[in-house]
Amino acid sequence: MAYTKIDQYDDAVTDGLMLNYKNALTLLGEDPGREGLQKTPERLAKAMQFMTQGYEQDACKILESAKFKEDISEMVVVKDIELYSLCEHHILPFFGKAHIAYIPNGYITGLSKIARVVDVFARRLQVQERLTTQIRDAIKETLNPLGVAVVIEAQHLCMMMRGVQKQNSVTTTSAFWGEFEKAETRSEFTKLITADLH
Ligand SMILES: [Zn+2]
Repeated sequence: MAYTKIDQYDDAVTDGLMLNYKNALTLLGEDPGREGLQKTPERLAKAMQFMTQGYEQDACKILESAKFKEDISEMVVVKDIELYSLCEHHILPFFGKAHIAYIPNGYITGLSKIARVVDVFARRLQVQERLTTQIRDAIKETLNPLGVAVVIEAQHLCMMMRGVQKQNSVTTTSAFWGEFEKAETRSEFTKLITADLH
């Protein structure tokens, strides 16, 4: 996946965030003037804008941009899509993998676009459950397929670094629609994504 920088940061947003992060550092007992921290508010301001750039992006447009007429109705599966997001409760990362499938109904889209749709919704403040259904709904609305399946497996740093410290727990969420509501189709998908999972 491409992790390119944002072309243009909004200076007013960067400045406002920098001021707040500088205050936050002081409140946390740090000296924002010391050498290692001097550029931290700016770096953090830009990192946060990068990690929430999905608000400005339109998942359906991305799918539309590579939508092709194709007369196939076999299940299309894209598995192990890397995923990095921020939990909206703690603004700490959660990360893992998304597995996505759809059954075309006259139209297909570029496989890389499916991965980009994951980024569009992941680069916002999220809960894993909503992220899962948003991806499903974008594919459903744009491609009008016979079915869509999305499974996300992720680890949440808010759980691993604080509170309960369940270090190895993986949260799995899923969203199925159409043909995938049938047990048979769903189990075919599950078989495909677990085939050589490590
Ligand atoms: Zn959290």
